[in-house]
Amino acid sequence: MAIERSTPAPRGASAHDILQLLRDGTPKSRTELATLTGLARSTVTDRLETLMAIGLVGPVADGTSTGGRPPSRVALHAQSKLLLAVDLGAAHLRLALTDLLHQTLAATEATVDLSQGPEPVLQDIQRLTQTLLQQIGRETADILCVGMGVPGPVHFDTGRPSRPPLMPGWDDFDIRASFAQQLDAPVMVDNDVNLMALGEHHGHGGNLGHFLYVKVATGIGAGIISGGQLQRGAQGTAGDIGHVRVSRGIGVQCHCGNEGCLEAVASGPRIADALRAAGLPDVHSARDVIDLVNGGNLEAIKAVRRAGGDIGEVLAAGISFLNPSLITIGGQMAAAGEHLLAGIREVIYNRAMPLATAQLQIRPATTTHQAGLLGASILAADHGLGSESITALAQSLR
Ligand SMILES: [Zn+2]
Repeated sequence: MAIERSTPAPRGASAHDILQLLRDGTPKSRTELATLTGLARSTVTDRLETLMAIGLVGPVADGTSTGGRPPSRVALHAQSKLLLAVDLGAAHLRLALTDLLHQTLAATEATVDLSQGPEPVLQDIQRLTQTLLQQIGRETADILCVGMGVPGPVHFDTGRPSRPPLMPGWDDFDIRASFAQQLDAPVMVDNDVNLMALGEHHGHGGNLGHFLYVKVATGIGAGIISGGQLQRGAQGTAGDIGHVRVSRGIGVQCHCGNEGCLEAVASGPRIADALRAAGLPDVHSARDVIDLVNGGNLEAIKAVRRAGGDIGEVLAAGISFLNPSLITIGGQMAAAGEHLLAGIREVIYNRAMPLATAQLQIRPATTTHQAGLLGASILAADHGLGSESITALAQSLR
């Protein structure tokens, strides 16, 4: 049997562990950090010196200490670096510069036309980023990492979209290389629903072990948190439920080329189509559907509830795989409120096994349309404050 020889951890490795404990924003003493990490206090002090030299952590004034003793607690320097959060939707672009605790320092939004392909959209992002930096008097070099959500499947390892139906011209486009022309920071790209799930998870204190976030808008998708971690699957398409076949979809063509997909019958635009076909000629968009529902139109309420049933059919199968304790419904159509939820609940409680639904809650998402930006900021921090990044920053000090 080979004798395992322990190699010394690279400088910065356990500094990263300490940094993770400070990402909740609460100052901690060296003793607390030693207890939480299991490291010797002297090692904690050594690693903190590294983090302080990088500039990410600093001492904080201790309200209880007296007599001129140096402050004994340390905290993340939230504004020592910036995170750039980008939320690209089917028709909107939202940008925010946040601090390392995800507080927004500057934000803006614009409309986009994804059909023009990636270049004009990415140029807009670069231009708006410079405007935001100027607003808060910071520089491009202050950006630690970029997190970006896009409305389609993304190969997470490369950050390249993979045949995104709503994004013609973006298939396999190298988004990172485009950013690299202007920005010397790593760029992480993910599916927008995954980032909304991260945002919603953060909104619940990051304490949800098994959770599904479902976005119902122009597209339908889910973000999966299982075992407390976002699950992207092997290629990044986990949760891509919009193209699962549903019973009401038989004979209905989907824009993906298949037939009978959930998205082809239950997305906002498809509900509008159905209402027009049923004799309501002025219903052209998801917004129109929501307005009718909120105005008490029975036909629209029934259509939304039916769409909820379709979504419930797919989620009932997902529950059998994942046994979540909470499902939250977000995206534009969540504004249809209880009617959509009622349709979803009705089918889930009928179809899923009793033990799987005994503790299951199905609720509207608590984070608003900012969930995608928050998630993008979290993705950027997870990478920018991650082990590799901290090790590289520590080594650059040598
Ligand atoms: Zn489809």
